[in-house]
Amino acid sequence: MDDQLQLASSTEIDERFLRDWSGLAVGRPAQVYRPTTTAEVAAIVRRCHEEGRRITVQGGLTGVAGGAVPGEGDVVINLERMNRIEEIDALEGVMQVQAGATLQQVQEAAADQGWMFAVDLGARGSCQIGGNASTNAGGIRVMRYGTMRDSVLGVEAVLPDGTAVSSLSRLVKNSTGLDPRFLFIGTEGTLGIITRLTLRLHPPMGDLAAAWVSAARFEALPQLLRALKRRLGSAMCAFEFMSDRFVSLASRLTGQPAPVAAAPWHVLIEAAGNVGQSMEDALQAALSDALEAGEITDCAFAASLSHREAFWRLRESIPEVLTHLKPAATLDLGLPWSETASYIGQLEAALRDRLPDAEHLFLGHLGDNNIHLISGPVDDAGVHLVDQLAYAALKGRGGTVSAEHGVGRLKKEYLLVSRKPEEIALMRCLKQAMDPAGILNPGRIFD
Ligand code: FAD
Repeated sequence: MDDQLQLASSTEIDERFLRDWSGLAVGRPAQVYRPTTTAEVAAIVRRCHEEGRRITVQGGLTGVAGGAVPGEGDVVINLERMNRIEEIDALEGVMQVQAGATLQQVQEAAADQGWMFAVDLGARGSCQIGGNASTNAGGIRVMRYGTMRDSVLGVEAVLPDGTAVSSLSRLVKNSTGLDPRFLFIGTEGTLGIITRLTLRLHPPMGDLAAAWVSAARFEALPQLLRALKRRLGSAMCAFEFMSDRFVSLASRLTGQPAPVAAAPWHVLIEAAGNVGQSMEDALQAALSDALEAGEITDCAFAASLSHREAFWRLRESIPEVLTHLKPAATLDLGLPWSETASYIGQLEAALRDRLPDAEHLFLGHLGDNNIHLISGPVDDAGVHLVDQLAYAALKGRGGTVSAEHGVGRLKKEYLLVSRKPEEIALMRCLKQAMDPAGILNPGRIFD
C-alpha cells in the first residue's frame, strides 16, 4: 500500500474490530484500514485484488448476523472515518452523505433542515448508513416509509476489483436500464463497498399519537392492525408487539413500569399525520372500539412526550435484555400475518419443551411481517437447537429466516428455507461475475 494508506492501517488490532453484536469471533485480521475517501477505498481494494487478499467490510458493527466479523488474516476496511454529510437539498429533501455517517447523524442533519430521514432503529447511534443500506435495514417505521431500499436514491460503490462506480442519482424516478442501487442494497457487502449515498428525506411526521395496548390472544393483534389501517390509513406508523415475558423483563432491567397490567401480549402503537381530526382523537376512537369489542384488554395513551419516550424505552431495551440473557440466540423471522399466531404457538411450545431453563421472548414489527425471538441463556448447542426448531417450523408457511438483519455468516445454512434453488443460483451468478476471485466479504450469504 502507498504511504498514505499505510497511515490509515493498523497492525495492532483493536479488539473492537473482531466482533459485531452477534458476539461471533472468527479470526484476527492482518490489517484494519479506516479510509476517509472513495479513492482510498478503491486503492486498498485494488491492491487486495492484485494480491488475492480477502476483505471484510465493516460499518458500525451493530449487525447480528456476523457479516462484519473478519476471518483470520483478512484486510478489514472499516468505514467509520467516512462520516461526512456532504450536501442537503433543503428544497427537495435530498441528502448526499458518506457511507460511514451514523444513522443518528443523518437523522439529525435532516431535522436541522426541516426534513426527516424515515428509517429508524434502536442502534441508531452506532449503526452506519452504509451498513443500513447493505443490510436493507428495516426498523420501526417500515409500515409507513418502507425499508432502506425505499430511502436510497443513489449509491457510489467500489467493486471487488477496485473500480469505483458513482451512481449518485437524486431522482425519484429513473427508468434507464439496470439500476446499480439494487446490486448493493441488501447484498451485505458481497458485491461492492458502498462509499457514498443519496438519500430521500420526508417532511416531519407532524401530530403524533402513541398508545400501549394489551391483548389476551395473539390472534387479536393482526385483526387490530387491520382495523387500525382501515381507519387511519397511512397515518399508522408503528405496531410493535411484545410478549408479556419480554415486557416484564424489560421493565425489571430498565426500572420503567409497564404502562398496562400484565397480559399475554402488548403492543406499542404510533400514528402520525392528519386525518381531519387530532391524531390522538382518531387513535383513541379506534382503540375504544377495540376495547369495547373485547379485542384488546387494556389501553394507555401517552399524554406527553416523556410518556411516549417511556414506552419506547421499554421496547428498545434489547441491549439490556441481551446482556442479561447472554449467551443468547437472536432470530429475525418474517411470516405472513395469517401464519404468525400458529407459528409462535408451535415454536414457543417446542422451545419450552426442549430448553425449559431459558427465557424465550417474542417481539417484533407486525406491520412488516417481522418477528424477533430472543432465547437465552443458551450454550452453542442451544443456539443451534433454537435455529433448527425455528427454521423447521417456518417451512411451508411462506416465511423468511431474516426479515431485516441479513444472512451474514450465521444464517447461510438455512438460506434454502426462504429462497428457491434458482434464486440462490442467480445470486451466485452475480457474485461470480462481479467477484470471480471471491475476495470481498467471502463466506457471507453463501459459501
Ligand atoms: P455492520 O454490522 O458493520 O455490517 C453489517 C453488514 O453490512 C456486514 O455484512 C458488512 O460487511 C456490511 N457493510 C457494512 N457497511 C458496509 C458498506 N459501507 N458497504 C458494503 N457493505 C457494508 N436492524 C434492523 O434492520 N432493524 C432494527 O430494528 C434493528 N434494531 C437493532 C437494535 C439493536 C440494539 C442492535 C444492536 C441492532 C439492531 N439491528 C436492527 C441490526 C443492525 O443495527 C442493522 O443490521 C444495521 O443495518 C447494521 O449496520 P452497521 O453499520 O452496524 O453494519
